Amino acid sequence: MRRSEFLDRHDRRLESPFLDAIRRSFREVDRTQWLPGEQIRKLQIAKAKRLIAFAKKRVPMYRELYSSDAVIDSIDDFRSLPQTSRKDFADCDIKYRTAEKLPIGQQVLFSETTSGTTGDVVMIDRTNLLEAWRHACMIRECDWWDIDPNGTCAVIRMPANKHGPGWNEEINGTIVNHWSRDGFELLFGSGTGYHMDASAKPEQIAMSIIKLQPDYIQATGTLLLSIAEYMSDYRPKALLTIGENLYAPMKASLLEYFRAPVYDIYAAVETNRTAATCPYSERYHVHDENAIVEILRDDGTPCEPGEIGNVVVTSLHNYSTPVIRYDIGDLAEVPTSPCPCGRGLTTIECFQGREIARLRLEGGRKRIALGFVMTMNDIPGVKKFRLTQRGLDDFELRITGRKTLCDEEFARIRQSIEQTVERSIALRITPADDIPLGPRGKLTKIEFVD
Ligand SMILES: [Zn+2]
Repeated sequence: MRRSEFLDRHDRRLESPFLDAIRRSFREVDRTQWLPGEQIRKLQIAKAKRLIAFAKKRVPMYRELYSSDAVIDSIDDFRSLPQTSRKDFADCDIKYRTAEKLPIGQQVLFSETTSGTTGDVVMIDRTNLLEAWRHACMIRECDWWDIDPNGTCAVIRMPANKHGPGWNEEINGTIVNHWSRDGFELLFGSGTGYHMDASAKPEQIAMSIIKLQPDYIQATGTLLLSIAEYMSDYRPKALLTIGENLYAPMKASLLEYFRAPVYDIYAAVETNRTAATCPYSERYHVHDENAIVEILRDDGTPCEPGEIGNVVVTSLHNYSTPVIRYDIGDLAEVPTSPCPCGRGLTTIECFQGREIARLRLEGGRKRIALGFVMTMNDIPGVKKFRLTQRGLDDFELRITGRKTLCDEEFARIRQSIEQTVERSIALRITPADDIPLGPRGKLTKIEFVD
């Protein structure tokens, strides 16, 4: 059995119960990733069984949701539990879905809320247990991708706090001792982080990056593309993308511009560290020890290989605000063959992020505009696009990178929208100099205007 030497190489060996929990969890995920799939499923069900028994006893929402005799002994038992959604979570009082009492040894360290790009804001408690596992998964990612935890990293995401400690006017961001802080800072010591505001002008972000020459950049793919054209004398060791779907053409452009490997992280506030790119293939592996990811059809049955379905996640270590069979609003594709790397972890062909919003149809129905997004990705030269639906059949498409489209391209785009909304539409195309990104560097690809 292969064993990682990552901690032997980098750990400063400070002692604390929290750091020991991270080390233990990492050693566990380092070992279990090589187990056969069936054995990993068994470990997951055992963890789910404990979590669900607890939630049924201590969390009002799950007490009401699950029947009192519900016992989880198999994946079928697990699949028989009702799903939950972001709407369920956002609509209820936080007390209703928070544990009245935590298991011995667990404490809430802090709480975090989702960015609310969909309008529903969800708060999640971060306990010492949840954080230990999150760190273990992050260390495994660093190990997979050969990321030096003492390297420097520009994290371009959150709106920076101009009055906070470490603020640096020249880079329009905050300089911190470690880009990942918390456990990483304690475990590995230095690893200077530059936290920069994703809503700043791309030229400004690019100037700071060139000046700082960080080893790594962490941002959304869209943001990285928007600064790519200004990057001449700079080559990072790797790009770490997070926060939106990384399409194959986008990944290819990033590789070409930055001449560095691109690694993608699939994580969300509600579901903790969930999946990340395999170091040997273009696919993703689920952090099965930390989360159960199901890919389901609309009727709740599991998708077959090659099918795209709804991503339903269970966060296995969140006991304070449990997230069980949670429909996160994303889509993913089940691969048709196992990953060649030999890990027993669940493999996902690709994720289709929630930025592929749904278009509105007659009678209040909504449908994913996947065909439209795929069509747009195939049109050469278009850098960013945003489709605005103003009524059932009235659409405006803003694009950057191209001033005009030919008739054939226009017809293809209109047809992709018409197929989704099941009617003829009026479509205007407006070239734009730029389409601003949202507060965390996300690009809203589809929006509604009432
Ligand atoms: Zn793999």
